[in-house]
Parts: sequence; C-alpha cells; structure tokens
Amino acid sequence: MAQEDLFKKLVAHCKEYGYVFQSSEIYDGLSAVYDYGQYGVELKNNIKKYWWDSMVLLHENVVGLDSAIFMHPTIWKASGHVDAFNDPLIDNKDSKKRYRADVLIEDQLAKYEAKIDKEVAKAQKRFGDAFDEKQFRETNPRVLANQKKYDDLHERFAKALNDNDLKELKQIIEDEGIVCPVSGSRNWTDVRQFNLMFSTEMGSTSDGSSKIYLRPETAQGIFVNYMNVQKSGRMKIPFGIAQIGKAFRNEIVARQFIFRMREFEQMELQFFVRPGTELDWFEKWKTIRMKWHQALGFGEENYRFHEHEKLAHYANAAVDVEYKFPFGFKEVEGIHSRTDFDLAQHEKYSGKKIRYFDPEINESYVPYVVETSIGVDRMFLQVISAAYCEEELEKDSRVVLKLPPVLAPVKLAVMPLVKKDRLPEKAREIIDKLKFDFNCKYDEKDSIGKRYRRQDAVGTPFCVTVDHQTTEDNTVTIRYRDSMEQERVTIAGLGKIIGEKVSMRKLFEKL
Ligand code: ATP
Repeated sequence: MAQEDLFKKLVAHCKEYGYVFQSSEIYDGLSAVYDYGQYGVELKNNIKKYWWDSMVLLHENVVGLDSAIFMHPTIWKASGHVDAFNDPLIDNKDSKKRYRADVLIEDQLAKYEAKIDKEVAKAQKRFGDAFDEKQFRETNPRVLANQKKYDDLHERFAKALNDNDLKELKQIIEDEGIVCPVSGSRNWTDVRQFNLMFSTEMGSTSDGSSKIYLRPETAQGIFVNYMNVQKSGRMKIPFGIAQIGKAFRNEIVARQFIFRMREFEQMELQFFVRPGTELDWFEKWKTIRMKWHQALGFGEENYRFHEHEKLAHYANAAVDVEYKFPFGFKEVEGIHSRTDFDLAQHEKYSGKKIRYFDPEINESYVPYVVETSIGVDRMFLQVISAAYCEEELEKDSRVVLKLPPVLAPVKLAVMPLVKKDRLPEKAREIIDKLKFDFNCKYDEKDSIGKRYRRQDAVGTPFCVTVDHQTTEDNTVTIRYRDSMEQERVTIAGLGKIIGEKVSMRKLFEKL
C-alpha cells in the first residue's frame, strides 16, 4: 500500500476508535488543534509515564517541575524568542497557500534522497544476495548525480539559513524549480520572517493590562526556576530538571495530523553541567535517548540522528532523533547543547545572580545546559504509526494496533462467551480482581470473533474469555493479540501472566 494511503487510513482509524479527534469538529474544526479521545488519553498518559519515570525515577540527579504556562513577558525577550523565534514564510500567489520556505527546500532534499533510495532498491532486487550496496552507492552514475545535487543544495541551504539570507532562500526555491503542490505554479512572493508566538492580554483594564505570551517551549519555565530548585533541593551539578507541559506555536503550515500542531505538549529535560563538560554530556544524553526510543522494539533501522543545518541562536551542538514515519524520516526529539545562553540572559535581564558554586573546583559559574526535548504528540504519532498493521489472515483480514503492551490503553478485555448462565457475573468478578493493577474492559456484545477484532483494532494485548468450563474449574482462555494464539489458564494465574508482559520495569531494565 502506498505510504500516503496508509497514513490516511491511520488518521481515520484514530478517529473511529477514539484515539484522536479534530478539535471543535462540530463547528468544522480548528486547524492544527486536536483532542484525544478515550483511548488516546490513556496512550498519551502511558507515554508520559514512560518518559517521566525514565528521567525522574531512574536518575538520582533528575527532579521534576511543573511551571505555569503564563510567564513574565521579559522572559521571552531575554530568551530571544521575541526577536528570533521566526520561521521563513513564502506564499504562492496563485493558490494563495502559505508555506515554510525551509520546509519546501527540505522536501526537495528528501526527493533527491528518495531517488537514490529507489535506484538502490532496484539494484538490490536485480542483483539479490550478490549486491554490494556501498560499492553501488559509490559508483553508480545516477546515484552519484543525485548525490551531487543533494550535497550542493544542502550546502547552499545551510549557508542561507545560517546567514539568515531570505533572498537566497527564495532564489534556491526558484533555481530548484520548486512548484506549489496545490496550484503547480512557481509564482512565489518574497520570503518573510514570521514570529511563532501567540500573545494575549493579562489584566482586566485596557491601560492596566500587559501583553503576555503563551509559552512556545517549556524550557524557559525550568531556567527561571533553576535557582529555586537548586537551592531548595540542595542539588549538586551535574543535575537535571524534567518537565511535561503544553506549548503553543502559531505554525505557518500545519500538516500531517498531530505531527505539527498549534497547541501541543512537550517533555523536556534541562541538564545543568560544568562549563567545558557540555559536549561530553551531549553525547551521553544522545545515547540515553536513543536507547529509550529503541527499547520500544519498533526496529533500530527506523531511527537515525540528524545533524542540524543551522544551529539555534543558543546552541553549540544540536541533533534530532528522527523516526521513519509513513511520510519519511522526521524529527521526534531534539537534543541541544544550549551553552550558558539562557541562564546568562536571565541573569542579565532580571538583574539576579544565577550562579553555582562548585566546591570541587572552588569556583562559581553560570552552568551550561544540555537539553532533550520531545513532543508527546509526535511520540504518540510515532507509536501509533509503528503499531498500525493490516493483516491478511486465512479467511479474512484484520486491522491490529501492535502497541507495546506496556503502552496499550487497555491491557485486557474480559468477555463472557454468552450473556447468561452466570458467565457475565464471573467475567465481572475477574475484572473486580484485576482492575486495581490493569486497565480492563468488559465486552459482551457481538460474537467472540467480532469482539476479538474490535480489541485488535484498539490494540488490547490480551482477551480473556469466560465460558462454561470456567464456572466448573476457574480457568479461562487467554488470547494473545499479535500471535492470536489461545491458552487455557487459571484465573488465579492471570495477574502474573499479564503483569509480566505490561511491566514498565521490564522496559526500564533495557535502558
Ligand atoms: P520543527 O523543526 O519540526 O518545527 P523544532 O526543531 O522547532 O521542530 P523543537 O523546538 O526542537 O522543534 O521542539 C522539540 C520537540 O517538540 C520536537 O522535536 C517535536 O517533537 C515537538 N514539537 C515542536 N513543534 C511542534 C508542533 N508544532 N507540534 C507538535 N510537536 C512539536
């Protein structure tokens, strides 16, 4: 199936099975804002728990924080967001559609990459086992021609971004012959900067009110609390502060479902270190974060690091963790070495000392920061795209969400074979025993086959069926979602079987 079709089906599936709804749908929706339904919220909570516990529980020197969304407006001046949190935008005069100039060029780069991959895949098919991919990539004329186009464009693009050269960005779009996907024309406006922060007024009277911003990242709430946490927790460097919370960005183009939203949630760690050690810590956090992703078992080949074309104004090293979505490799998480930029700026703008006295070297300094920043929603999309599966079976087919059991919204469905003979009561007894440890669902409607399909579509890893034999010997059948195998087990043993498979501890032991 074409990846585009797959993605459309995935979006429809999320709606049909209560994972994600368009915000304000009955009023025709609000663009790039989404609501999470009954299963979506559970999956989202499980993702957040996996992240939070892996940070705060497993690292003795990481503590949590929950700072407010509204903050003093000077914070955003100090952080550089008022002046520099911009995206370069460009309009197509025929379709009147707006695009991010950098994204148009990134898509063009991805096209060259796709052409190379296609050549490689074709050759692989032709030569079979004898295929030497490295040699092919280094010698095939078509691959080399496309690689050169890619490298030249990449170099020009990175330079234009780093020089903040908007004219050159437009020139690249023209030279590459990039057309508007809607009108098909090359009739572009000039490239302009667009600030992504939402603002609102705080205070009730017009002269007494002040302009404040909805935070575009959670990080600044951590920086301005650095001294509070360090002092009250008597934290010793190196240490980290973790936070999960909403962020808001007035994205120019909202695309690809929950990949790019105007209201979203971030999970951020700011890790404070001694100056000069930041690049070592940057490497350490890269390794830790990649392990966290790969522990979920979606295939190592689907992840890669991507170096930034342009470093943000605050960073001296930056890398993205990319996942292979149905629409290509895209960023899920950013890892940045933010130097002492933020704390030094807040020191300057607030007039308060933000220093750490390091007893080991007998020196006082502004700490350096390594940040890991991941979007909850993007992680959600990553998990759900990896899990979505259409399977042809012997007699029919099924759609199954192969969610890691530890993240699945519902862990088990308990089903009486028929709605009589005390089987429903027995099923409820099982739920009453297990509901303290696992999210259980009672399901008695339709045939057993239909019920299994429904639970497969939701991603429930275990179905427990109560039949007449259950009332005699207290055994049930447990059916496993992925293999569809069934086994007869005792009711007393259910908790252990399920507990082992959905244990977050097992996941943590892999980290
Ligand atoms: P992009 O280049 O995609 O705009 P970014 O580099 O600006 O992203 P960061 O500022 O590094 O993103 O934000 C950290 C993380 O927050 C991203 O890796 C992503 O997971 C998430 N994120 C950022 N913007 C959005 C958004 N508009 N919608 C959903 N998640 C987002």
